[in-house]
Amino acid sequence: MSTLSALDRRHVWHPYGPMPGRSEPLVVTDARGVRLTLADGRELVDGMSSWWAAVHGYRHPALDAALHADDFSHVMFGGLTHHPAVELATTLVDITPEPLQHVFLADSGSISIEVAVKMCLQYQRAHGRPGRTRMLTWRGGYHGDTFAAMSVCDPDGGMHALWQGFLPQQVFADAPPAAHDGPYDAAYDEHLAALAEAHADELAGIVVEPVVQGAGGMRFHSPRHLAALREIADRHDLVLVFDEIATGFGRTGELFAADHAGVAPDVMCVGKALTGGYLTMAAALCTSRVAAAVSDERGGGGLMHGPTFMGNPLAARVALASVRELLRRDWRGEVAAIGEVLTTGLDPARALPGVRDVRVLGAIGVVELDHDVDVPAAQAAAERHGVWLRPFRNLIYTMPPFVCPPEDVARIAEGVVAAAIAG
Ligand SMILES: *Cc1c(COP(=O)(O)O)cnc(C)c1O
Repeated sequence: MSTLSALDRRHVWHPYGPMPGRSEPLVVTDARGVRLTLADGRELVDGMSSWWAAVHGYRHPALDAALHADDFSHVMFGGLTHHPAVELATTLVDITPEPLQHVFLADSGSISIEVAVKMCLQYQRAHGRPGRTRMLTWRGGYHGDTFAAMSVCDPDGGMHALWQGFLPQQVFADAPPAAHDGPYDAAYDEHLAALAEAHADELAGIVVEPVVQGAGGMRFHSPRHLAALREIADRHDLVLVFDEIATGFGRTGELFAADHAGVAPDVMCVGKALTGGYLTMAAALCTSRVAAAVSDERGGGGLMHGPTFMGNPLAARVALASVRELLRRDWRGEVAAIGEVLTTGLDPARALPGVRDVRVLGAIGVVELDHDVDVPAAQAAAERHGVWLRPFRNLIYTMPPFVCPPEDVARIAEGVVAAAIAG
């Protein structure tokens, strides 16, 4: 074991892990284009986009250039403003559904969810309903690791058991029916409507991941359920929040997953690919109606949140560069091309024993097993194909950088199939 690995093992936490960790993390010494270089000299094609974020790959010249501005790196956002933050916010307003007009820049996806929940609660206060403090969501979701965010994650797959007695008790609908499991299921919309009806006097808002549930199970559902949620929210004056932190910026084949349904939420959270994977930044966008309520004396007289690094100019600059780069390119064509190669490349997995389902949407490919993945064996098999993957639970999945050329996407698909065999 190298000195670096030994020190890592002794002192450094990794995500969701014990101390010391269960396995030894690979040491990365360089990342360029779609390849990670390891300390042992190997190169792996990145099948994960660093958890949905690095859509342009690594060391992209336009994003690199944005980071090397020669004015200033950070100033507090209380009482001060600057070009990068204003331009980024304006751009986000331009490209998201029309009713979303105001932008709160947060420092991570989880924090943007906290802010969205505050918006819901303050909205209800402003309307004279301070008792409405719960959120309606569906099972199978993932919204982050801070407490309000965890409270709306899937109660079984999430960490609810660990935090019992501490997490706010939210209202959970069944998981949305999987789009690939058959025709659109209108009975499910009635289930959502009945649940909202039963809890209307205690609900502040609805929060869901539109079209794709990510870390909660990599499941896809019909966009039509989003239209049903819009109606339900309007009927009971609930704030409808779409968590587009994973789905935003083209990943599902539309710029935002909400666009599949033509539905505008009252609040939308974005993150992950926002900065192209360079720095941590997220945003919660809201409508003028929500902003007015939050700003009302009765609603709290303002949005009660203000991170130290809010609106960080470096992150805002690189986010702006990333969004511009995305819009400049044929992202729709790139995502469709990745989807086609994944569809063909993952097809052999269907015939494998232990494989329950294979599905592709946009530039997302998923192989679902009928048992938990043997993660070390699966990863080793992918690495033998020169591919970096990070399976979890019973899922081996990939969301390649949009710049991934077809031969590398094909290699990733081979890695996924090999991982499914080994895992
Ligand atoms: C990753 C993710 C989050 C949390 O974002 P962080 O930046 O990790 O805090 C929230 N919601 C969804 C859908 C995500 O994929």
